[in-house]
Amino acid sequence: MPYQPDTQRYDGRMPYRRCGRSGLDLPAISLGLWQNFGGQDVFETGRALLRRAFDRGVTHFDLANNYGPPYGSAEENFGRWMAQDFAPYRDELLISSKAGYDMWPGPYGGPSGSRKYVIASAEQSLKRMGLDYVDIFYSHRMDATTPLEETAGALAHLHRQGKALYVGVSNYTPDATARIAAILAEERIPLLIHQPRYSMLERTIEKGLLDTLEQTGSGCIVFSPLAQGLLTDKYLDGGAPAAGTRLAKARTLTPDRLTDAVLDKLRGLNTIAQARGQSLAQMAVAWVLRDPRVTSALIGARTLEQLDQLLDAVNAPALTTDELAAINALLG
Ligand code: NDP
Repeated sequence: MPYQPDTQRYDGRMPYRRCGRSGLDLPAISLGLWQNFGGQDVFETGRALLRRAFDRGVTHFDLANNYGPPYGSAEENFGRWMAQDFAPYRDELLISSKAGYDMWPGPYGGPSGSRKYVIASAEQSLKRMGLDYVDIFYSHRMDATTPLEETAGALAHLHRQGKALYVGVSNYTPDATARIAAILAEERIPLLIHQPRYSMLERTIEKGLLDTLEQTGSGCIVFSPLAQGLLTDKYLDGGAPAAGTRLAKARTLTPDRLTDAVLDKLRGLNTIAQARGQSLAQMAVAWVLRDPRVTSALIGARTLEQLDQLLDAVNAPALTTDELAAINALLG
């Protein structure tokens, strides 16, 4: 049976938010394929997650060259899902990829911001996904050993070729963000967006980056708004993590992150969420979206239940001043 998306997918339940001073709207919640969509994951589960997301108005899927594991496999799988399910809907989708971290062996395979690496990697990503272009191509990380002009030049090249409709950066400092935006502006190419980490447990972007993005006119899509699953109710009892969870896999989320001090905060936050009639995971999404400078919350999900629960968060009442104050008091 060919995939038939839900005809109600744009019925107003998913808000779309303007990305900085561009003409582009992003869904309030976007779905990332960093984990749970690679070669070691169940192909049909990933496919079901993408279908459900699109059915519920999620028009943005975020990838990178090295998402998997193994590296490249999330893009390869995504290419199959595109071909099988989403090809007729390409113009309804924003698809992003990135280059910056280690990807292939040798001096040109990263980690790097060189023109050689960024352009070769973008070409590889397009091939793996079976696409002619991505909507957003990112420099995934700042490379202090490469002149910013060179990285910006590589992004501008992809932009002019039409292989990236927009360009962005991820994990850049405020200063480097302002500088690369200025270099791109000389080429008359706006820096569409920044992709930083942001959650109730990681608030660094409040100390400068959000202000910088207002000045450059760039949007902001924040990754790991649940702090990779810490900001949920599943670790609150402090026992051994359930099999299959990220903490149990201990690859990118290791047990040392769940200190007694963090557990205390999570339990306090959970109480506030419950009083709002939400899960902690839902409140974590609502919290990052409370700032209008945040264009989209870039979530991950391993099951349909997790995804549905997070998508339900966009229709909850906004956090009140009192709730925000209580959260701030807890976070310290
Ligand atoms: P999240 O903080 O949203 O973490 C996702 C994890 O949270 C899930 O795998 C699941 O963990 C848990 N979870 C999600 N929903 C629920 C729920 N309702 N109830 C309980 N647990 C839940 O984001 P990610 O860390 O996955 O990052 C999201 C995306 O951001 C990535 O896919 C990628 O696109 C991007 N990213 C970008 C980076 C960059 O450098 N630019 C770096 C990291 C991410 P579990 O599997 O344990 O159940």
